[in-house]
Amino acid sequence: METTFVMIKPDAVSRGLENEILRRIEASGLRVVEKRKLRLSREQAGRLYESHRGKDFFEKLINFTTSGEVEVMKVVGENAIRRMRELIGPTDPVKAPKGTIRGDYGTSGTENAIHAADSPESAERELSIFF
Ligand code: ATP
Ligand code: MG
Repeated sequence: METTFVMIKPDAVSRGLENEILRRIEASGLRVVEKRKLRLSREQAGRLYESHRGKDFFEKLINFTTSGEVEVMKVVGENAIRRMRELIGPTDPVKAPKGTIRGDYGTSGTENAIHAADSPESAERELSIFF
């Protein structure tokens, strides 16, 4: 069993897509064992996206992720990290196939509906920020 960190971003929360996204995660056989809705502080957003500090899109990313409520969650299952990354699809919604969460709900390179941790180390680090 593996545990990963997932966050529904403000664009999706503001459009009321949380239940549909949670449904897709659970329908895939993964389990959401904890979840919490909150508005990120700039400090929390900066910690979450620490590895991108200094990149040209960093400020825009922090402004966006702190622009409204998000839903953070702990997701458990066999190969949960890889399976969540498959469910969400590629970073750019234009390149994300239909049927992936980003392909269906993302609207731009920044406003791409959802985040999921990309490695066991990231999952542990990101979970520790919120749970
Ligand atoms: P996430 O970490 O949110 O799950 P990801 O792992 O697919 O996304 P990263 O490379 O970690 O992609 O980028 C983190 C986030 O930064 C992206 O989800 C996106 O919102 C934003 N981002 C990444 N690259 C760009 C870019 N070139 N222009 C604008 N925003 C970007
Ligand atoms: Mg990432």
